[in-house]
Amino acid sequence: MTADIVGVVNAGSSSLKFTLYEGDAVLLSGLVDGIGVRPALKARDGAGVAVAVPDIAADPPGTPAEALMVVIPWLRERFAGRQLVALGHRVVHGGPNHDRPRLVTPALLEELAALSPLAPLHQPHNLAPIRAAMERTPRLPQVACFDTAFHRTMPEVAQAFALPHEMAARGIRRYGFHGLSYEYIASVLPAVASGIAGGRVVVAHLGNGASLCALHAGRSVATTMGFSALDGLPMGTRCGEIDPAVVLHLMREDGLDVAGVEALLYRRSGMLGLSGISSDFRDLLDSDDPRARFALEVFVYRVARGIGSLAAALGGLDGLVFTAGVGENAAPIRAAICDACRWLGVDLDATANAAKAPMISRELSRVSVHVIPTDENLMIARHTRAAIGEGVA
Ligand code: ADP
Repeated sequence: MTADIVGVVNAGSSSLKFTLYEGDAVLLSGLVDGIGVRPALKARDGAGVAVAVPDIAADPPGTPAEALMVVIPWLRERFAGRQLVALGHRVVHGGPNHDRPRLVTPALLEELAALSPLAPLHQPHNLAPIRAAMERTPRLPQVACFDTAFHRTMPEVAQAFALPHEMAARGIRRYGFHGLSYEYIASVLPAVASGIAGGRVVVAHLGNGASLCALHAGRSVATTMGFSALDGLPMGTRCGEIDPAVVLHLMREDGLDVAGVEALLYRRSGMLGLSGISSDFRDLLDSDDPRARFALEVFVYRVARGIGSLAAALGGLDGLVFTAGVGENAAPIRAAICDACRWLGVDLDATANAAKAPMISRELSRVSVHVIPTDENLMIARHTRAAIGEGVA
């Protein structure tokens, strides 16, 4: 008896990532990157072993949407006899209304396309493959899973900017992102950290993109990213929170236009900008350059301040969870953040931290500290099965 398969798709401007799930198990994961330059297709099976892929060089896909149209027939052939029952897509923006994943319809697609000005660097790329699949494989159900949805439980005060109130109606408000990651963490907390699952927890999703989320009994009540994924913590190449007057100054003094500001804040700032060396935390940890050390100090300082701010939003703190590339792997960064959070009741077990243990606080620590690997794709796969099961848009 073979089970049905769900495909998870994550499309960017020049890449398409895909993962096939049978239940919660990964059957295959792959990537088409270099789209627009020299597209290459790579894939691995569930055990991580590279699998043979079709040669796409002769007729290379020109867009991620075209890449999906190459990948779907190949996957159907490779898993002949099993049914690909749905595609679940990571979509950055669900706007103010969608607090959960949605089955894709033409009307939904139109509504999501209208949100593109709110996330111009991601939304159009996320939607293009959905549109292509809707046209070319119309009987294959698709589900849109939003990075914003999990944060729709935040109270109004946490979503508001202190701007003229009519701006909120135009969509200018705090949405928050990394929601699929936080939702996954919230979903596993009862099993892996039952003592804090019902309490006040800050989750630190520290990767190339970085943010914090305040969970109260598993629901998001505050987060550091806002209108865009630029706000909050400094990141690999993004600046995080800055005084908006800096932008005004650069426009006035340097004549920077929108594209110039965008390039500066999204791609030349953060760890890369501060260090002048790299956006990769591994490079910075390995470097003796004082600027690399300073970049890491700024990162730790901002994360610790952010945790304090979210603890204030929660009215206290019972648990702290580290996740994503840096949070899961960089013991020295976790240690420095925990050290800066001692005043909140964080008492790190240095040995457990260095040993990559799942719980890294000491037994009597008032705040229990955990390292939990995130799994956004699995969250999307589960949502997708649930949404097609319900069959409601
Ligand atoms: P993304 O936001 O791209 O999904 P990830 O969560 O995969 O990012 O995190 C990627 C980042 O994690 C890399 O830029 C790297 O700096 C960092 N990272 C990965 N492994 C380690 C490690 N062993 N030590 C320190 N940093 C690491």
